[in-house]
Amino acid sequence: MNKAKRQTIIAGNWKMNKTPSETTALIGEMKELVKDADCGVVLCVPFVDIAAAIEASKGTNIKIGAENVHFKESGAYTGEVSANMLKECGVEYVVVGHSERRQYFGETDQTVNLRTLAALKGGLKPIVCVGETLEQRELGYTETLLKYQTKMALTNVTAEELKNVVIAYEPVWAIGTGVTATADQADEGNGFVREAIAEVYGKDVAETVTIQYGGSMNPKNADELLSKVNVDGGLIGGASLKAEDFSVIVKAANK
Ligand code: PEP
Repeated sequence: MNKAKRQTIIAGNWKMNKTPSETTALIGEMKELVKDADCGVVLCVPFVDIAAAIEASKGTNIKIGAENVHFKESGAYTGEVSANMLKECGVEYVVVGHSERRQYFGETDQTVNLRTLAALKGGLKPIVCVGETLEQRELGYTETLLKYQTKMALTNVTAEELKNVVIAYEPVWAIGTGVTATADQADEGNGFVREAIAEVYGKDVAETVTIQYGGSMNPKNADELLSKVNVDGGLIGGASLKAEDFSVIVKAANK
């Protein structure tokens, strides 16, 4: 295991929060607090906030991401947004397959794969989310499920394209619940994801992939979670909506 081989990335996922003016204010506050980060700093924001986020983050180390992308390049898909639209706006990252999209919007392993491929083709870096429900964990399916979801999401992704993919292990039972996986559970889950990547692309490639943990990461638990060998950063929901909290997590990743 060599953590030095991969980039640590702390990414915020704002979900359906913040208006454009609130976006300008929050990034204005954050940029000073995270300016010395050694790790990648990304904020994934609602589509309507992208222009404000790009403007507010100009000249800073903050990269902007979207929270979803459609799998077609254009066409009759009312309400959807394509990778090239996002790219032209200055977006670099995009969350794909978040459990809230799987749960509420009919996202499947197949559409997660199509969105991943579309993001890569359009020059975006997908942050692909995988994770088990509490029921699946209790039934003993965590490893099988994480490996399946990871392999499905990466179907037809080349080793070259994989360099632009980030995976986020997000146990569904830990998202927005205040219940965090223990550092060992996070490390184990991320390890299963890395093993799945190794099974398809080889161990050397798997060692280079950034695998984040997400699920109620906060200023208090970030240090311990981020110290684990398989945890290369975090995907942060609630705590990314407060400049101070988010910056404490970024600082924990710097250590
Ligand atoms: C998320 O939305 O990806 C997430 C991890 O949320 P929270 O940090 O609020 O659990």
